Amino acid sequence: ENTVARIAAGEVVERPASAVKELLENSLDADADTVDVTVEEGGTELIRVADDGHGMREADVRAAVREHTTSKIDGLEDLESGVATLGFRGEALHTIGSVSRVTIQSRPQDGDGNGGAGTKLVYEGGEVTSVEPTGCPAGTIVEVDDLFYNTPARRKFLKTTATEFAHVNRIVTRYALANPDVAVSLTHDGREVFATTGQGDLQAAVMAVYGREVASAMISLDADDLPPGPLESVSGLVSHPETNRSSREYLATYVNGRAVTADAIREGIMGAYGTQLGGDRYPFVTLFLEVPGDAVDVNVHPRKREVRFDDDDAVRRQVDAAVESTLLEHGL
Ligand code: ADP
Ligand code: MG
Repeated sequence: ENTVARIAAGEVVERPASAVKELLENSLDADADTVDVTVEEGGTELIRVADDGHGMREADVRAAVREHTTSKIDGLEDLESGVATLGFRGEALHTIGSVSRVTIQSRPQDGDGNGGAGTKLVYEGGEVTSVEPTGCPAGTIVEVDDLFYNTPARRKFLKTTATEFAHVNRIVTRYALANPDVAVSLTHDGREVFATTGQGDLQAAVMAVYGREVASAMISLDADDLPPGPLESVSGLVSHPETNRSSREYLATYVNGRAVTADAIREGIMGAYGTQLGGDRYPFVTLFLEVPGDAVDVNVHPRKREVRFDDDDAVRRQVDAAVESTLLEHGL
């Protein structure tokens, strides 16, 4: 059973960033106002996600690491929009804990968890090794130590600390931008990389994450008249063409609130900028697309969150038009 979990883990928990993503989603699901992510050595030594969400009682903490016990789907819509964490519902903590040492400390917001205290549970290599009362703030702290300690082959595939951290940074950035009403911070090896206030709008979150220079180059997307196609709306921020980078990493795109990548979206954006960017340069973009769930094909690459649309051409034209009209309006 543990072997099966471990093999499954290798497929789903590819690297520290995959674990960070799951923990961050759990904190947001728990309605946290504040989520602090701390990693050491790119997340290979330690991942710690602390939130002030609704927290858990002892029985819930025990259930949280059990296989399949919490499996739930947010409804048909979630499945259809296809951008749910496919094949991973209710199994994240169980799976991560089969290839690391997971420590959960939690205390519910409403009422006492464990005789007034919280609960601390250690789950190691797929076994619960201790459960005890603990003093902890209301909310939840999940720590993942020594990821892949028992799967040397997987551990060997990890890249340098800098590369693993870049993946973590990208994930946390995506969630911070999509949730400007949540204060999200990221700390790596003792250094705070960014912290959003949770009280601002998208522009404020962009400023916290990318800095003043980039934030001041961002233009609000103004797209009233989309050409025909599946997209119901396109909103967000795009950068002045002069503010660009040599990596696609700063194209943060969301479909129905979930961070995804899609060729049609990227091509639409790049088409709108045309020759204004030098070769191999990419703008900073944070774009939110709304689309009926049945227009998205999710089976391209669920883990990487790559999606395709039934009508990719129409989506490309719509994104292109939305970005281009915004740039034109600013004389660009
Ligand atoms: P899923 O999120 O798909 O249910 P997980 O393994 O990620 O599966 O989490 C299992 C369960 O543990 C969640 O459904 C939730 O009830 C609980 N849980 C996990 N993390 C938190 C958290 N940060 N705050 C509150 N509850 C949590
Ligand atoms: Mg989860």
